[in-house]
Amino acid sequence: MKTIGILGGMSAASTQIYYRELCDLTRQRLGGLHSPELLIRSLDFAEIEALQVKGKWSAAGEILNREAKALESGGADILVLATNTMHKLAEQMMDGVSIPLLHIADATAEAICAAGLKSPGLMATAFTMQQSFYTDRLRATGLTPILPSEADQNTTHRIIYDELCKDIVTPKSQEAYVGIAQRLVDAGADCLILGCTEVGMLLNADNVPCPVFDTTQIHCRTVLEMALS
Ligand code: GLU
Repeated sequence: MKTIGILGGMSAASTQIYYRELCDLTRQRLGGLHSPELLIRSLDFAEIEALQVKGKWSAAGEILNREAKALESGGADILVLATNTMHKLAEQMMDGVSIPLLHIADATAEAICAAGLKSPGLMATAFTMQQSFYTDRLRATGLTPILPSEADQNTTHRIIYDELCKDIVTPKSQEAYVGIAQRLVDAGADCLILGCTEVGMLLNADNVPCPVFDTTQIHCRTVLEMALS
């Protein structure tokens, strides 16, 4: 089994899900006492979030690049960056790194295309919804992403940073998210991308009225296949 390097902590709430998910999937696949070969580098999200807010993306990219190199020299064979938003910096992160990065948007787009769906609603941070680095990547595969209204984008973003990244889950926010998902379906979405690695804490196939593509789960499933191939 190849060693998966997880660059995480963005936030720590979802990096815990990656660890749990990869352990569960490996046990299902290999049985017995098997568990995944992992290197987890969990950053202090307060520092990263401060750089995001100030628009200091290249400084954040330098941190990701340094840590990707550290994971490679520590023995990782494949990298995952356990956040959708920070894929804005995927190119800078991978500069001078020779092991592959499994891009979260590519893995997600592939899963949606394989299911024969075309118009995914996207619930994510404002950076991921409003900047082109993510939606263009989806469009390049033939998908037509559908974004929430401005008010719904604000609510989605606020709940991610004020609650989910702090491991806070409330019925009120879950209700708000279910409403946003419903309005995306009403606007023509034929499926929903949980385009932030924490959104699965509130939404899943049981409370969304269309097929759900949880980027955290897709990322884990796909990278495990790569590690076992
Ligand atoms: N984990 C989130 C994402 O998937 C948001 C936190 C971050 O900005 O990295 O986009």
